[in-house]
Amino acid sequence: MRNRLSELLAFNTIGAKLTTIICAIIACGFSVIIYFYASQQEKNHLLQNERAINQVLGSVSEGLQTVMITGSASVAELFAKRLLGVKDVEDFRILRTNGLEAFLDNETIMTVNALRKDTDFTPRETESHNRIFAEEDPNFRQVLLTRQFTYFYGKQMVDGKETEHLTFLLPIKNVKKCYRCHGKQREVLGVLKFTSSLEGVRNSVRETWIRAGVFLLLALIATLVVTALVLKRYIVRPIEAVSNAMGKVSKGDLTQQVPIFGRDELSMMATSFNHMTQELRSIYDGFNSERNKLSTIIMGTDEGIVVTNDQGVIVLLNPSVEKLLSKHAERIISDGFLHLLDAPQRMEKLLESNEASLGGPEIFLYQARFLAVYATTIRRANGQLLGRTAVIRDVTQEKRLEQKLRELSSTDPLTNLANRRALDETLATEVALALEQGRALSVLMFDVDHFKKFNDNYGHDQGDRVLRAFSDVTRECVRDVLDTVCRYGGEEFVVIARETPQEGGLILAERIRAAIEAMEVDGLNVTTSIGVAGIRETGAKTPAEMIEKADAALYKAKNAGRNKVMPAKVVAK
Ligand code: GH3
Ligand code: MG
Ligand code: MG
Repeated sequence: MRNRLSELLAFNTIGAKLTTIICAIIACGFSVIIYFYASQQEKNHLLQNERAINQVLGSVSEGLQTVMITGSASVAELFAKRLLGVKDVEDFRILRTNGLEAFLDNETIMTVNALRKDTDFTPRETESHNRIFAEEDPNFRQVLLTRQFTYFYGKQMVDGKETEHLTFLLPIKNVKKCYRCHGKQREVLGVLKFTSSLEGVRNSVRETWIRAGVFLLLALIATLVVTALVLKRYIVRPIEAVSNAMGKVSKGDLTQQVPIFGRDELSMMATSFNHMTQELRSIYDGFNSERNKLSTIIMGTDEGIVVTNDQGVIVLLNPSVEKLLSKHAERIISDGFLHLLDAPQRMEKLLESNEASLGGPEIFLYQARFLAVYATTIRRANGQLLGRTAVIRDVTQEKRLEQKLRELSSTDPLTNLANRRALDETLATEVALALEQGRALSVLMFDVDHFKKFNDNYGHDQGDRVLRAFSDVTRECVRDVLDTVCRYGGEEFVVIARETPQEGGLILAERIRAAIEAMEVDGLNVTTSIGVAGIRETGAKTPAEMIEKADAALYKAKNAGRNKVMPAKVVAK
């Protein structure tokens, strides 16, 4: 209750605001109406008062004149004194045209007696003068000049209190009947002054104002109550319903629906609100089911998925990450995104290269496993950083298969030596390098002597076993880094000897020849003939020429009786 009141006073509610505005407008309207009404009433009161006094005075004036005509001036004086006793009559006097009060001295008596040539009017024993108006007083002068009555309002202090009064001035006109006493020269013989208190009128006006004020107050209270009730019923309650429901929706309760009354704008608002929450709910449900699907996929996939926020803190990682990195989630989170694979610099580089888009993966060799890592930075359209993400996949199996395939494609299956394809590639590279940098390079070409016959004598399988042993012995004779042994085809072999002049090649060839001669396979022996060609010595320019020169030297070795080493023909420089 107290809260409601303080809310109302603080104008926190629409009802309070609307009630205040409406009441303020109505109060202004009422005030204006009542002001005009009361002002009009005040004018009416004053006008009626003026009319009443005017009428009374007219009668009084006529009465006085009648009295005066009968020659009873003392009766007129008494009449005037009696009038003074009437309620609200403050002053009633008969004045001479010079502003002095009549009936106080003997001036008129003497003048009248002289004019009538008698002594009917007895002079007063005591005389006095009482000036009521200055002769030049504008109101007084106006009555004398126009011979019409006039009145004016004034204020005076009575018993220490300022009171308002109304003064009427009526001319006492000189008519035929007055001539006998006053002569006919003057048009106005005197002036009647009548002053009435406005206390009664003012009291009536005050009562009118008080009544109007009370009415205004009651009307305002009634308006306030009716307005507040109407606003509460038809505006505040529907708005409160929508606003409360909105508050609950904003806290995540999408089941909110508000009642709909009538067909006004507020009901339309409530209808729209209900549609909106229904729509939101269906979107939210859809979104939730998509999210569930997505999290099922993320949590169930074999790929490791890591997501950070804009501060770089890991906010999502699925169980596969723990499995792939053999680390607990807590450890991964505390180490941070860049240390996922214990190679922060590589990770940073990967993020830089994938700044624009998620590029191809980087392969990390991590704990004897090959991990393909996709990593990128997630940004809003305006470039604002949202976070980073990494997808980690175990590609150990693929890598091993790939390696196997690569080996298979370049290895001879029988002897495990490099095959013809690998020989062509390696020789092309080495010839180009030797020519470009002037380095030494030799090619040894050799062949099993009379192998056809061997096969014929001991069978093809035995021949194969010999070829395998032949290869192993040759491999052992050559230098690990500098020399490459290849199976050229059938029972022919080639050694590419890097950094080796023809002289050195001959030494290597002799070592092979001797080793083969000493080799024994299942109690059987073979020999080999070797041709050696150095690139510098023969002046060969292509891999084919190198092979050609070595082959020619081999041919010479065969012709020389086999189990021999022969150099290629040296070209003079
Ligand atoms: P030469 O001393 O002149 O080299 O005589 P050769 O008999 O060795 O020469 P030829 O080129 O006539 O014969 C090569 C033989 O090598 C023919 C073939 O049966 C044998 N041979 C080639 N490849 C293989 C193989 O992979 N396994 C076996 N067992 N024999 C092979
Ligand atoms: Mg051969
Ligand atoms: Mg042969």
